[in-house]
Amino acid sequence: MPAVSAAKQAPGLDAWRVTPGHPFKLAEVDPGSTPQAPDDRSKTDAASMDLRKRLRIVQDCFMAEKSRSLLLVLQAMDGGGKDGTVKSLYAGMHPVGAEVTSWGVPSEDELAHDFLWRIHHRVPAHGKVGIFNRSHYEDVLAVRVRKLRPEQVWENRYNIINNWEAGLVHEGVTVVKVMLHISRQEQANRLQARIDRPDKRWKFRMGDLEDRELWPGYQRAYDDVLDKTSTDHAPWFVVPADKKWYRDFAVLTIVTNVLETLQPVYPARTDLDGIVIPGATRASTEPKAPKPARSSKTTSNASSPASEPD
Ligand code: ADP
Repeated sequence: MPAVSAAKQAPGLDAWRVTPGHPFKLAEVDPGSTPQAPDDRSKTDAASMDLRKRLRIVQDCFMAEKSRSLLLVLQAMDGGGKDGTVKSLYAGMHPVGAEVTSWGVPSEDELAHDFLWRIHHRVPAHGKVGIFNRSHYEDVLAVRVRKLRPEQVWENRYNIINNWEAGLVHEGVTVVKVMLHISRQEQANRLQARIDRPDKRWKFRMGDLEDRELWPGYQRAYDDVLDKTSTDHAPWFVVPADKKWYRDFAVLTIVTNVLETLQPVYPARTDLDGIVIPGATRASTEPKAPKPARSSKTTSNASSPASEPD
């Protein structure tokens, strides 16, 4: 039986979570909507700042605990805001405990292996939050829509992916998958800005225009991905992403709530009890007094995060 993960159990995320086993249509989600956000942009930005503080605290502890990992998969149409989302998350994380992998067109060597071969060794190690900027889902999106492989090849991959992700969850990797959902109009505006602005031109690929022509096929392929691969062990979250400030708030809420649900604890170090280094000035430990750990994993002096780490 596959594990039910923190991504499924985390509270407050129903507005975005795709319920496993229910038919899902991307067209029914308004990319300009702002569910669960405070009234206006400035209040939402303030909420995002607060979320980054919470994220910094819990991720520091997750990194120190070093016994589990979190894989965040980011998917979107071109111009959907994956890079901006990574930037926003990093502003709330210790970079030593985070790593980003961007997935592009596979090399000849990668194509000579099964499609998960290149992916697996970038799954984050214990203590790390790994972000996939695109992912193995391109193997049922780009590959399907651009007809790079026959249907008999990609149609099996939904099951292969579900089984692979279930294995990761069993091994202590929490898998969180976020689709940043933009409108076709917003994509046009963002691609045009990449053409018009000298500081954005480096992001533009001629292939973006070809993929834009394939928009309906991509939307259908995303519907199938969301239908077939949102599972109890690795659910998808669809985030309306036409408004960047809202997108950042939503993704910060998802990642922070999932990490907090995992309830990481600082490792107990009773071996250090009573050690005093001659000549050292002792800093007060008072303000860092930890809250009682909430997890059954808690041991004698292991502690959950309480205050902003240094
Ligand atoms: P991005 O658009 O994410 O900023 P790039 O401009 O480098 O990054 O584009 C990466 C391209 O690689 C995308 O067009 C994407 O569809 C393609 N790609 C990624 N993975 C695969 C894959 N497994 N098979 C085919 N194409 C892929």
